[in-house]
Amino acid sequence: MFTQLNINAGLAFGAFAIALFCFAASLKRNLSRIQHATYLIICLSCLVCPLTGIAEELFLVFGKDGDGLLWLFMGSEVLFFVFHSFLAPSFGLYVLSLNGTLVGRRKRLWLIYWIPCMIVELANIANIFFPRDARPLYTVTVGEAGNYLYQRGDYMFIFYIVAALYVLLSLFAFIRNIRALNARKIASLISFYVATLAGVVIQFFWKDIKFEAFFESVSILGLLVLLESDTGIINNNTGLYNEMAFYNDNATAMAAKRKYTIITIQSPDYFQYLEMLGQTNYNGIELLVARYLTTIVKSQYVYHLSNGAYGIMVYDERQNDVDMIVQMLENRLAEPFGYGAIEASPRWTITVAKVPNDIEDASQLHYLFAGKNGSFEKKVIIRDSLSLRFIKRRSKIEGAIARGLRDHNFKVYYQPIWDASRNKIVSAEALLRLIDPELGFIGPDEFIPVAEENGTIIELGHWVFEETCRFAKNNEIKNLGIEWLEINLSVYQLPEKDLPGRFLEIAHRYGLPPSFLNIEITETADASNDNELLDRIQNLVKVGFPLSLDDYGTGYSNFTRLIKSRYRTIKIDRSLLLSAEQGPIGKSVLSSIYKTMNGLSFRTIQEGVETEAQKNLILSFGAQMIQGYFFSKPIPGDEFIEYVMKFNKIKFIA
Ligand code: C2E
Ligand code: CA
Ligand code: CA
Repeated sequence: MFTQLNINAGLAFGAFAIALFCFAASLKRNLSRIQHATYLIICLSCLVCPLTGIAEELFLVFGKDGDGLLWLFMGSEVLFFVFHSFLAPSFGLYVLSLNGTLVGRRKRLWLIYWIPCMIVELANIANIFFPRDARPLYTVTVGEAGNYLYQRGDYMFIFYIVAALYVLLSLFAFIRNIRALNARKIASLISFYVATLAGVVIQFFWKDIKFEAFFESVSILGLLVLLESDTGIINNNTGLYNEMAFYNDNATAMAAKRKYTIITIQSPDYFQYLEMLGQTNYNGIELLVARYLTTIVKSQYVYHLSNGAYGIMVYDERQNDVDMIVQMLENRLAEPFGYGAIEASPRWTITVAKVPNDIEDASQLHYLFAGKNGSFEKKVIIRDSLSLRFIKRRSKIEGAIARGLRDHNFKVYYQPIWDASRNKIVSAEALLRLIDPELGFIGPDEFIPVAEENGTIIELGHWVFEETCRFAKNNEIKNLGIEWLEINLSVYQLPEKDLPGRFLEIAHRYGLPPSFLNIEITETADASNDNELLDRIQNLVKVGFPLSLDDYGTGYSNFTRLIKSRYRTIKIDRSLLLSAEQGPIGKSVLSSIYKTMNGLSFRTIQEGVETEAQKNLILSFGAQMIQGYFFSKPIPGDEFIEYVMKFNKIKFIA
C-alpha cells in the first residue's frame, strides 16, 4: 500500500513540478498569440491534475469513515475532472494555431469549438447533485471497512468520448494541414501524441499506478523545449517578432490556404540613417516606429524584419481595415520621428500584398522587398498589386535567364547590314533571343536590364561573343561577303577582369582577327563621366577590337568625347529617322548629323529603316549603311546565311 502511494505521490509531484516549470516559463510569452495562450491553459490543467491526484491518493490511504473529509475527497475529484476536461480541447486548439488554421479567425467561431467541453464540465458539476449511490459519472463513498472508495459511474465514458473527439479533431487538422508545419513541428506534435497516448494505454493496463498525469507533463515539457521557445524569433531591440517568425508565420498561413494581406514598410534610407545616427540612436528611432505600429495593429501581427523593415499581417476580420491602416501609416510615416535631440525623417516604401492573389508562396516573400524603393519627390510611396506584378515578372525573368544559361535556351539572331555604295550585305548585328519553355519568347529589352542588374550579363555576354565567333567560323561567312560582325556589349560587362584579354582569346580560338568583331556600346551619362569605365572601353580598342557607338541620338550622346574618341562606327538611332520623317526640323537635324559624321570620317549605320521612303530619305543625307526591317528582321543563323547568299548572289559550291 505504502509503496504504491509513494510511487504515485512521486509521479504526481514530478508531474506538478514539471507543469509548474512549463507554466512559469510561458507566462512571459506574448499571450495574445493563440498558440501561447492555449499552451498556458494546457500547463494549467497539467498543474492542477496531479495535485488533485495526490489528494485523492492520500484520502484513499488515510481517509477514515467519520473524519468528515469525504467532501474534500469528492471536491478534489470534481476539480480533477474540471481541469482534465480542458486538456484535450486546449491541445486541439494548440495544433490548430500551430498549423495556421486559427490565426486571426473570429472569436465567435472558437465558442462553438468549446461547446462539447462545456457540456462535459456542466455534467461534471451536475454529477454532485445526484444521490451518492446513483451518480452517473463517478462517486466517492465509504467502504465496509470504513475506508474511502472511489467508484466510476455508468456514464463515465462520456468524458472519454468527448476527449477522443477533440483528439481526433486535432489529428484531422494536423494531417490535413501538415504542409503548413515544418519538420520540427511535425516531429514535436507526433511525439506529443505518442507520449500522451502511451500514458493513457499504460494507465489502462496498470490501473493502480497514476502514470497519466506524469506522461502529460513530460509531453508539455517537450512542447516547451521544442516549440514554445521564442528565442531566435524575437527582435532584441523592439521585442517584436523577427524575420524568421515572419517567414514561418507566412509559410504556415499560406500552406493553410488563408486569405490575408501583408503590409511591409521599408526605408530606402535605412543604411544612410544607420550610419548617420549610429546604432544606439537608430535603435531609439526603431523603437518609436515599432511602438507606433503596435498602436494600430496588435503586436502579435507586427514583425520587425532585417534592414530596418517591418511587416504587418492583416487577417480575416480586419481585411476591410487594410485601406485605413495603409492611410494611417502613410500619414504617420510622412512625419519625422523624434528621439532625444535627434529627428529622423527617412523616406518609406509601403508595400501591400494580398495573399494569394499577389503572393501565393512563402518563397515569393522577397518580392515585397525587391525593386526600386522610394523616390526623391515623395516621402512615402505605396506599392500595390500592380508594382508587385512587375517585380514578380522580373523575378520570373531572372529564373528564365538562369534556366536559359543552363539549358541553352538562348539563341543568337543576326540582322543584315546593307552597304549602299556596293549594294551588298557587308555585316550583321548579333542579337540575343531567349525562348523559355515556361514564359515563351522574352525580348532582350526585357531580359538584358535584368541580367545587367543581377550580374548574369557577364556570363551571357561571353556566351553571345563566343556563339557569334563560332557561327562566323563554322559558316566561313567571310566568303559570303561579310566583312565584320557587330556584337553588343553592355557597360555592365566592363568591370569584368581582363575582359579584352578574354574576348581576344575567344576570337583567336575561332581563328578570327579582333578587327572582324565590332563591339557596340551604348554610353550612358554615368559611363561617359566615369574615367575608370572609359579606360576600360579604351582597353578593348588597344587589343584591336573596333568600337561602334550604339543608339546615337537617344538621350545621352557626349559629342566632345565622341570627337576625341575611339569609335570607328556610329549607329544612328531609329528615333532620329522618325523625327526626320515628321518635319523640317527633324530633317535638318539628321542631315547635319550625317554631314558631321561623314566630315569626321566616321562610318555610319542607320538603324530601324523599315520603308523604301525612309531608305531614300537617309541616302539623300549621305547615309552609308543601313540596318532595318526593310532588308530583314533579325533571323536565325541558317536563315541569315541563305539571305546573304541570295542577296550577294553567291553560288553555293558543293
Ligand atoms: P539595339 O542594340 O539597338 O538593337 C537594335 C534593335 O532594333 C533590335 O531589337 C532590332 O530587332 C531592332 N530593329 C532592327 N531593325 C528595326 C526596324 O526596322 N524597326 C524597328 N522598330 N526595330 C528594328 P532587339 O533585338 O529587340 O534588341 C533590343 C536591344 O537589346 C538591343 O538594342 C540591345 O540594346 C539589346 N541587346 C540585344 N542583344 C544583346 C546582346 O547580345 N548583348 C547586349 N548587351 N545587349 C543586347
Ligand atoms: Ca546594338
Ligand atoms: Ca541600337
